[in-house]
Amino acid sequence: MSEGTKIEQLRQIRDEVVNLKTSPLYEYRLQNNYHSVLGEGSHDAEVMFVGEAPGLNEAKQGGPFCGAAGRVLDELLASIGLPRKDVYITNIVKDRPPGNRDPLPEEIAFYAPFLMRQIEIIQPKIIVTLGRISMGIIFEKFGLSGELTTISKMHGQAYDAHASYGPIKIVSLYHPAVGTYNPHTIETMKTDFQIIKKLLEGKAVIIKA
Ligand code: URA
Repeated sequence: MSEGTKIEQLRQIRDEVVNLKTSPLYEYRLQNNYHSVLGEGSHDAEVMFVGEAPGLNEAKQGGPFCGAAGRVLDELLASIGLPRKDVYITNIVKDRPPGNRDPLPEEIAFYAPFLMRQIEIIQPKIIVTLGRISMGIIFEKFGLSGELTTISKMHGQAYDAHASYGPIKIVSLYHPAVGTYNPHTIETMKTDFQIIKKLLEGKAVIIKA
């Protein structure tokens, strides 16, 4: 797919999300002058990071992971020498849920198809789930529900999966926000990030499914 076509298709998704009045978070976004957060990064990214939902900073600025959790993500990316501009960063839910609560099942169900279309356009070889909500939906969408246990067991593991455009790896990681209230977990997350580096370098890693 040419870059022009990718941009057009991604803009189409953005326009749909921004204008769909049936969105469960449409009114809340409008009332607060927030932005939808579609995603950011390379349209040819080999690695796509999928978080949960925009927080306050993200909804104000319109970009993913631009607050405290974003600073942790930046540190983790830097630890493996992976420039943020080379990856694609997005969320399951494209609008901020009120008061930073977890997204509701109906919100996840509403926004997930947009994420799946983004995956089809960008065609990443590695999808990295950030946190248990992202892990749950991505594993389900790629037919890996049977692999799901707790994130404390699954973090830092890679799984084989099949996208419509070919084989992919799915890596489950803790959500970077964990590092903001529990700084010693950043070292665990840095160790987990090494698997992304190894996969990109074509080095052998243990694959779970
Ligand atoms: N947390 C997320 O899950 N996504 C963001 O974009 C920011 C914080």
